[in-house]
Amino acid sequence: MGEPAAAETVIVIDDDYTMRFSCGKILTKMGLQAEVFEDGARGLDGVATAKPAMVIVDLKMPGISGMEVISRVHEIDPQIIIVVITGYATIDTAVEAVRRGAYDFLPKPFSPDELRLIVNRGLERRRLAMESQHHEIEQTMLKRRFVTFVSHQLRTPLVAIHQYLDVLKHLDQEDDVPRFRRREWLDRCLTRIDELQNLITDWLTLAQVEGGTLSKERIKVDLNTVISPILKAYEQTASAKNVSLQAQLSEDCLFVWGDRNCLNVLFDNLITNAIKYNKSGGTVTVSGSQSRGEVVIAIADTGVGIPEKYRPFLFAEFFRVKDDSAKKTVGTGLGLHISKKIVSEMGGTIDVESEVGVGSTFWVRLPAWHEPEAAREG
Ligand code: ADP
Repeated sequence: MGEPAAAETVIVIDDDYTMRFSCGKILTKMGLQAEVFEDGARGLDGVATAKPAMVIVDLKMPGISGMEVISRVHEIDPQIIIVVITGYATIDTAVEAVRRGAYDFLPKPFSPDELRLIVNRGLERRRLAMESQHHEIEQTMLKRRFVTFVSHQLRTPLVAIHQYLDVLKHLDQEDDVPRFRRREWLDRCLTRIDELQNLITDWLTLAQVEGGTLSKERIKVDLNTVISPILKAYEQTASAKNVSLQAQLSEDCLFVWGDRNCLNVLFDNLITNAIKYNKSGGTVTVSGSQSRGEVVIAIADTGVGIPEKYRPFLFAEFFRVKDDSAKKTVGTGLGLHISKKIVSEMGGTIDVESEVGVGSTFWVRLPAWHEPEAAREG
């Protein structure tokens, strides 16, 4: 029991004492948990209880044959890697064993190095298979969750729009209802439709980022030319909220290797959040500089701030702060998730510092563009 919990178990089944003893010794030296058995029946019991990562089995044994062991092991767990040990005379049988599901075979006599090589290769293949299966399961679960969530999110505003239109229909039959009352209900419909449009836009962007179809060009981009137009475009929205926008962007040094579309989505998300979650009379300051091979952009606001307990979840899909100050603002909970994906794909990082009631600063760090080697040398 002295083995570390993470050590993988390898079972050796061979009626030859010297063989199973030396295999066990080599495996233990490799940091694996080795268990050895002298016949098929005991070996299979061992497989059922130990749930090993690998079984090394001799084909020629009295009692249950090695071939039979192969099929029974895979009945217990098809992901166990099986390596067959065989004498020269039984190579044909070994080929047959591989055809039946054994991963590889090791002709006798073999050196410790040959055993180590085959064991490492087999274990690596099992890890990869398990990782990809795990990834597939995660993706399926995510898709299921996504579909349920999306349907729910779409239905809520649609139900509201339906109800508002019912009210309007009803008002239409009454002559003494002032025009502004009808206008009110129409405005509510329009607000809900805007919400729906935002949801759909974010979902499509996320699908594009995840599917790798949001263009992945890698060109030299000056972040001044990305950020300044965004700030300009949001001037009116910000002033309607009595929020002022400021830029402190160094000239001629905010170059990154990136995709203009993705960078637009990234800074658009962060700047709209800084406006959305701000207070009347507040400011949003976007500053940028280059330091030690990185372009550092800070999007600082003087808004509501983010309570510490929520910060670990901020970049998770669909996450929205549930406090009153943030709840009043509409959103999808996808903006930061998308932003993080974009930054990671570009080899950068995104972090946040925040104080409730004082404001938040999102830090984006991206590898700076530099002259290609050949150009510098030439
Ligand atoms: P949303 O569409 O809800 O804005 P995001 O993924 O962009 O989705 O942000 C997730 C949550 O993080 C928001 O719901 C909000 O509660 C919080 N948040 C994001 N940016 C800020 C900010 N600058 N200030 C305060 N809270 C923020």
